[in-house]
This record gives sequence, structure tokens and C-alpha cells, in this order.
Amino acid sequence: MATFRKDYYEILGVPRNATLEEIKQAYRRLARQYHPDVNKSPDAEEKFKEINEAYAVLSDEEKRRIYDMYGHAGLEGRGLRPEPADFTDLFADLFEDLFGFGVRTRARRAPRRGADLQTEVTLTFEEAARGVEKDVEVVRHELCPRCRGNGAEPGTGPARCPTCGGIGEVRRVSQSFLGSFVQVTTCPTCQGAGEVIATPCRECGGEGRVLTRRRLAVRIPAGVDDGMQIRIPGEGEPGENGGPPGNLYVQVKVQPHPYFRRRGDDLIVQVAINVAQAALGDRIPVPTLEGEERVEIPPGTQPGHVIRLRGRGIPHLRRNGRGDLLVVVQVEVPTRLTPEQRRLFQELARTLPTGGAQKPEKGFLERLRELLSG
Ligand SMILES: [Zn+2]
Ligand SMILES: [Zn+2]
Repeated sequence: MATFRKDYYEILGVPRNATLEEIKQAYRRLARQYHPDVNKSPDAEEKFKEINEAYAVLSDEEKRRIYDMYGHAGLEGRGLRPEPADFTDLFADLFEDLFGFGVRTRARRAPRRGADLQTEVTLTFEEAARGVEKDVEVVRHELCPRCRGNGAEPGTGPARCPTCGGIGEVRRVSQSFLGSFVQVTTCPTCQGAGEVIATPCRECGGEGRVLTRRRLAVRIPAGVDDGMQIRIPGEGEPGENGGPPGNLYVQVKVQPHPYFRRRGDDLIVQVAINVAQAALGDRIPVPTLEGEERVEIPPGTQPGHVIRLRGRGIPHLRRNGRGDLLVVVQVEVPTRLTPEQRRLFQELARTLPTGGAQKPEKGFLERLRELLSG
């Protein structure tokens, strides 16, 4: 059951009576050799974990004593073995400890992508359907125009850091019970940059960047819908240390239309006709995205009848074709009649069959409700 575990001294390649300094030296050498950022061989990461685990134990007086006496089982029994998940933190600490300019410093100087930004645009229903170019406003950092980003007042320049002489790190000789050793730490004056600004730019206070309100023309593609987001690459916050800029995300809001409703890329519009038009048929004006259009109502049209005008809906986003326009026909029964109309209806009534109980047309109401709620 017990898996074979390599000896920690073997892993670091040091004798069992190695001093802490020898252990540190061995660790430093191996960590540099097998760090996954440096060593791309497939087993480097595993090896690197091993090295860290071995070092975590052997550099700790108490853990080393337990390991020497009882081996791996001794540490496990006391819950002292570092979990693999801890290694990132552990390594950051060790690295900091050993090399001074540790992981943290390196990460700070490394190119970093700028943050993403978000803004909002409100479109009319038609603008969303047809596509439009809109100005949006974004507040972001931009290169300071006064100092062109170097943070120094024009005519002056960044100077070499007097504390570290431009190296970005300082060496300190520490005394310990094992003797003296050199400790390297990030320069406290320049935070590792190697340069200091004697006369900071008045515009940006030495930041090199200023908060700028910027208007951007954004191309909104035809077919966008309320709640969608448009990504504009590279228009977010600028990157740091040569990293790429972030993206700008434009949140789209679409105003409702007085007549149209949208269901996916289909448009729904409701029209009303009178009983005579329903019975006899007619051509009636129907609003479309292209303006009013006359549409044929066939004789005998029932309430809730849907006329589908293919390809007259919303354009599909970023592909060809359009949805359909669904014309839902309502039949309006007059509520107030003139004497003349009343006479005509009475005359008509004598010729029409009288109705009776009827099986409901299956699913009709549900279909209509679904159509109109979309
Ligand atoms: Zn400036
Ligand atoms: Zn410095």
C-alpha cells in the first residue's frame, strides 16, 4: 500500500549531515534547473515539486529532525508533509527568501495585460435591427501627453537609482549562527525599477499615465439584441511593462418598439381588421422594418391568424439572411353600431348559421400566447 517515496537527501543530492547552507545551495541550484518556467521537459514539474517538498522539510529544523528519526511516515503521522497545493505559496516564500528578488518582483516587472473596461450604448429598435455606428464614451488611462509616459517633467529624465545604482536589488550580508551569508532583496528606493524620477511630471505626478475621457466610434452590427455585449479588442486599459491592452465591452440596450416585438430574429407585429375584412379579405397596411407595406388578407381569415413574411425580420447577427415577420391578425368586433350598421348586421344574421358548442382548436390559444409573449 505504501508508495515508494524518494529520500529527501537524495532528491537534493546532499549528504545526511549537510548544513542548512548546503541544503539551501543545493535547492537553489535545482530549483533554477527544474523551474517549469525554465525547464520545458515533461517531468520538470514533478521534479520541481519533489525538490520543493524536500527543501520544505530539510530546511525546517523540527521537520528535519522528525524525518531523520522516523522517515516519511513520521512526518505524515504528524500531518507535517506539505500538501502539493501549498507549493505555489511555499515556493514564492522560498524564492523570495533565497533570491531576494523573488516571484513577486518578477511578476511586477513582467508584461501585464491591461484591465477590461465596460461601457453601455442605447439603441433604438431600428438601429439594432439595421446596425449603426455609435459613439461611446470610455474613461481609461492613457499615456501622459506631457511626459510621453516616462513620468519625468519634460527636459528632465529618470535618473539611475542612487540606492542600488540601477540594478534594482540590494545585497545585504546577514549574520546567522551558521555564519554570514549574502541576502539579496528588492531595492526599497526604486522597487526594483533601477530608476528614480527626481522631478515628477506635473500632469501625471510621475505615473506616466493620466485618466482620459475618450469618445470612440463603435460599429454595431445589424441584428444585435438587448443585453448583448460587443467586444472591442484593445480599447480597454493599457497594458503594463509592454503588455497588451485590455478589451472594451459595450453593453447593448435596445429601446422597445411601439409595434414590433422580437422573438429571436423573428419580428411579431399585431394588426386589427374588422369582421367584414375578415370575411371578405382585403389588402391592409402593415408596418415592416422597411416601412409600411400592404399585405393580402385572405377571405375567411380567422382571429389570431398568422401571416408569415419570410426574410422580413431581423438580420441574423454576423451571417447572411434574416428572420421572418409574423403578422398576427386580430378581428375586431364592433362594440357600438350605428342604426344603419345594426340593420345590416341583422340582415346578415338571418343568412348565417347560428353557432353552438365547439371543440377548442387544439393548442391555438397557447400558440398565440407564446407568440405574443416572445
Ligand atoms: Zn506625465
Ligand atoms: Zn534602486
